[in-house]
Amino acid sequence: MAKKDIDWGNIGFGYIKTDKRFVSNFKDGAWDEGALISDDTVTISECACVLQYAQTIFEGLKAYTTEDGHVVCFRPDLNAKRMADSAERLEMPQFPEDRFVDAIHQVVKANIDFVPPYGSGATLYIRPYMFGSNAVIGVKPAQEYQFRVFCTPVGPYFKGGVKPITIRVSDFDRAAPHGTGHIKAGLNYAMSLHAIVDAHGQGFDENMYLDAATRTKVEETGGANFLFVTKDKKIVTPKSNSILPSITRRSLMTVAKDYLGLEVEEREVFFDEIGDFVECGLCGTAAVISPVGCVNDHGKEIFFENGKDEMGPVITELRETLTGIQMGHIKAPEGWIEVIE
Ligand SMILES: *Cc1c(COP(=O)(O)O)cnc(C)c1O
Repeated sequence: MAKKDIDWGNIGFGYIKTDKRFVSNFKDGAWDEGALISDDTVTISECACVLQYAQTIFEGLKAYTTEDGHVVCFRPDLNAKRMADSAERLEMPQFPEDRFVDAIHQVVKANIDFVPPYGSGATLYIRPYMFGSNAVIGVKPAQEYQFRVFCTPVGPYFKGGVKPITIRVSDFDRAAPHGTGHIKAGLNYAMSLHAIVDAHGQGFDENMYLDAATRTKVEETGGANFLFVTKDKKIVTPKSNSILPSITRRSLMTVAKDYLGLEVEEREVFFDEIGDFVECGLCGTAAVISPVGCVNDHGKEIFFENGKDEMGPVITELRETLTGIQMGHIKAPEGWIEVIE
């Protein structure tokens, strides 16, 4: 076995086909045992529920090489649980959580030569997903489903240093109260595409979505949760039923409390108060935390005092501690690191 001949430092975030993927089919009320296959295409009915009514959910996590040469992934049990919650909300069968984690193991092992080496900054991004596969024309849930896991190597998120980004307050909403904002469904992303293309067109990196009901509270961006830092180093994250519960954000809150001794608070965050925070970051698997330097509210700029030119000190410490735990330099809490090989 030899690592693939890939320029790990320069691959960016794009799809690269790997050797194997895991597929399991749900039919007649049961999942089959599943298998690793080589075919990277999906063949389904032209009337498949996913194609007509967007019945699809997904997850995202990373495998990477630690300093001592192990290939590991980070808290896959939480992805398994979150996918089960997503499935329930879209009337899809749950893929058993232990089998989900086993499928991750199988896929990473079968593509071990695509796991970037330690120190390259690159990782193997893993994408579990599930969709309604049989023909459905009258609106109802599918009766047959496919669960798949593929992986693709991705480059370092921050190439050539981390620059704080500028985001804008969006006039579009991401999620309705009592809607689907709290689950990882493709439909939440379909409707965010126009908002992100529009934001990019106007020179902004991301959208800050406010709560749809009152437009007074901070929710999240299209794909990452917010963390704010107060003047006295308290970590504050918005609480709302329509935010997707980021595993990175939940882990960072634990790191802040248990490793850095910081006070943490999950509560409603009013847009009016964000100027009082001194640092702001966006949390997600891809970047861990990206610093936000400025929020643009229809032309009015709100800067975060300690993080407008470079990543602020508290966000930097949080980021270094979590990546240190992930890479094996710092002892992880029980169960956070899943060793694959
Ligand atoms: C996936 C996702 C996140 C980040 O979650 P992680 O588990 O940290 O990767 C945040 N917001 C939305 C809307 C997402 O889909």
